[in-house]
Amino acid sequence: MFSRFIKYINDHEDWLMGRVLEYAQNRDYTKYTSTLKEAWRLSISGFSESLVEAILARGEDMELCPDEDYSQDPAAQFGIIEAHRHRKRGVRLDMFLGLMKYYHQSYQDLVQESDFPLSEQRRYSNLINRFFDRVEIGFCNTWAASEQDQLVVELQVKNREMTNEKNKYLTIFESLSMPVFIVDKAGKIENMNHAAANLLDSGTLPGAKYYNDKESRSFAEEFPWLADLYEGFVQSDEPHFSYEKSLDAGDRYFHLLCSRSLDISGKFSGTIVILKDITNRKKLEKELEKYATTDPLTGAKNRRSFLQSFEQELTRAHRYGHHLALLLMDIDHFKAINDTHGHDVGDKVLKRLVEESLGMLRESDLFGRWGGEEFIVLLPETERHRASTVAEKLRGHLAGTELATDLGAAVKYTVSIGLTVVTDKNAEIDDIVKKADKALYLAKKQGRNRVVLL
Ligand code: GH3
Ligand code: MG
Ligand code: MG
Repeated sequence: MFSRFIKYINDHEDWLMGRVLEYAQNRDYTKYTSTLKEAWRLSISGFSESLVEAILARGEDMELCPDEDYSQDPAAQFGIIEAHRHRKRGVRLDMFLGLMKYYHQSYQDLVQESDFPLSEQRRYSNLINRFFDRVEIGFCNTWAASEQDQLVVELQVKNREMTNEKNKYLTIFESLSMPVFIVDKAGKIENMNHAAANLLDSGTLPGAKYYNDKESRSFAEEFPWLADLYEGFVQSDEPHFSYEKSLDAGDRYFHLLCSRSLDISGKFSGTIVILKDITNRKKLEKELEKYATTDPLTGAKNRRSFLQSFEQELTRAHRYGHHLALLLMDIDHFKAINDTHGHDVGDKVLKRLVEESLGMLRESDLFGRWGGEEFIVLLPETERHRASTVAEKLRGHLAGTELATDLGAAVKYTVSIGLTVVTDKNAEIDDIVKKADKALYLAKKQGRNRVVLL
């Protein structure tokens, strides 16, 4: 019979929570209430469940009577339990009763704003009135029955528990290894933990002044290098923000983590900022990345990393209709160099070849070690004529370099170069490399120390 009404109440938990919170905020009750959304949701679902239970148990028969045994009434029972809970927390009867009037009002508002016909609205409204009357009777009874001495004891116990609870969270806050700042609505640093104070006191942070006075400073003033990021987060709607900021031209790194305070009462609305020095981790990452992308002997790009960059360049060239040239270069009779002068000298030749080649190329050209004594060069935005000139100059230059050995003998070497220029819009990497390889094969076949363009 009341199933539509019950469903309506259950479907509007969020609505009721929003309405009660609005009343509570407007009337300043939030000064004394919980700050977390979940607590408000729980209180609404508590009222709704009890209301539904009362309706199911009593139906329309919610009217009061002088001889009724309220200990058997679900609505009054709910009031009794709430009275015990709130009294222990030190909440006064007038305060609790006052806020409950706004819970009552919110359920009435919900009925009034519904689409139920007027006659039904009146019935539901009456049910709600009687339900809240029953809750009130339950908890006023409990409140009135309590002895003063008993109340004091209850409060003392609760007070001890609260102090313990506060100390527990303070200890956790102070023990965190990451520096945490609590920044208030006005942007002032309201509190910081031990690690944060250490970070400031160490004086290693740019802009951080010595922190021995109690006067709170603004976060943005304290960290001018983070001011824009912080301001950006405050202005945004995001609940969290995470950013890795480099300092001193990439010599140092900090991880900035901002979280908006979850307090929906508005009492502690501000930001929790975690600022962590991640320089060591970043340096390690960079080293790992370098290992993964460069050839350890010569420092040139390795094959995998070269191909990655090649892919990007090729996409760009296709998109803008640019030509690009690919050059495969192999040292002539390198085995003989190894055999004659030793492997170490061979290594030096490889290193020197990379240095010399890089000196001859543009910043935007890509240079990689293709394997063994074979190197690969990509010349972006380069057409045939210029590509041939570059390859020829490179060949000539390398043929002219000499490497002094410990034994006094100078090592000279030459290279053969296979060259191809990509003009086809559909050309794929594999085909391009194959063509350059074919050109290189021809250069070897035609006598080495030469460039062949295909
Ligand atoms: P070609 O003119 O036909 O290219 O003759 P080549 O002797 O250069 O040809 P081949 O490919 O047969 O020999 C390449 C040699 O390069 C064989 C290998 O031992 C040597 N090599 C490969 N990687 C390295 C390296 O890292 N250091 C040294 N020192 N030698 C290397
Ligand atoms: Mg060779
Ligand atoms: Mg080779």
